[in-house]
Amino acid sequence: MILTDLKDKLAFNRYYDEPAVAQVARIQKIKQQFGADLLIVAHHYQKDEVMQFADARGDSLKLAQIAAANQQAKTIVFCGVHFMAETADILTSDQQQVILPDPMAGCSMADMANSFQLTQAWSLLTSQFDDDILPITYVNSTAAIKSFVGDHGGVVVTSSNAKKIVSWALQRAKRLLFLPDQHLGRNTALALGLTPANIGLWQARANRLQATNPAALRVILWDGYCSVHQQFKVAQIAALRAQYPEIKVIVHPECAHEVVAAADEVGSTAAIIDYVQQAPRGARIAIGTDNNLVGRLIKQYPEKQLMFLNPFSCSCILMNRIDLPHLAWALDQLASGQPGNVITVNPEIASGAKKALDRMLSLS
Ligand code: SF4
Repeated sequence: MILTDLKDKLAFNRYYDEPAVAQVARIQKIKQQFGADLLIVAHHYQKDEVMQFADARGDSLKLAQIAAANQQAKTIVFCGVHFMAETADILTSDQQQVILPDPMAGCSMADMANSFQLTQAWSLLTSQFDDDILPITYVNSTAAIKSFVGDHGGVVVTSSNAKKIVSWALQRAKRLLFLPDQHLGRNTALALGLTPANIGLWQARANRLQATNPAALRVILWDGYCSVHQQFKVAQIAALRAQYPEIKVIVHPECAHEVVAAADEVGSTAAIIDYVQQAPRGARIAIGTDNNLVGRLIKQYPEKQLMFLNPFSCSCILMNRIDLPHLAWALDQLASGQPGNVITVNPEIASGAKKALDRMLSLS
């Protein structure tokens, strides 16, 4: 069963009328009952009401590694977004099932690149630049995009390993097509010493390349972006620096390059957590990433002066679709022997995507 039918949705609505305490108790009981057969994993951007049940939490890279390494759990409940559950399904065995508590938990950035657009772009770019071009996709992409990339000798990256893998790829191909996040691609290329003249922009809806000097291109960026990380601006950093001259600012590489350039540090969610952990008592730090994570860090380290870079930014509404009622529903379905929202990637697509994911895991 996939929780998208109206009838099922109406039946599901009763979970919002039930007291949270009853759902918490039931989830704990089902977890105990299933033991090691059930693994609940959660991305750092998940809400606390879900996070409390996670057997493992992490960023995209860590969660992919956990899925690839786990042979014991028959069911993995993935508290994250759709592309992450697809990745877990691709990396686990056929005897394991992956459940996404709400199938509507997608990723607006992943949806900015589809196979049809990519096939058209590839055909135009290879006819312009010959075949010496390697596709690289951020893990925040659909399984179909990963499959295309894997079948064309390319590789997946996460924000934790992008620098290492893009550097590897630049030694192997004259040009890279990096999708779907233009900001991670641009920040990584510039950090590796490329100049703006080496970077072009593929305008997917117009099917057109924007470049000042096409002959100088080393990296062609897809024009996707994350709507959450678009909410951080240079003016917010400037205002905080004016108020607190000693402040340090750390942002995620999905932020625009001018924001990254104005910050003190840039890092993946895992790197942001490490940076905060290692900061001395009393350190004043503004953090530019999803506010579920920042709010949790603020509570976790009351002895440090942590703050939101943008207190008015919305946390990811797609990550937020996984809430206590959806998790309780997913576990109730599992316990009743009728697991719902099982994510299964078409084997042909999975096979291409696995090549790109395996390349990433071996290079990480
Ligand atoms: S935070 Fe951005 S990139 Fe991450 S799941 Fe949400 S929309 Fe996608």
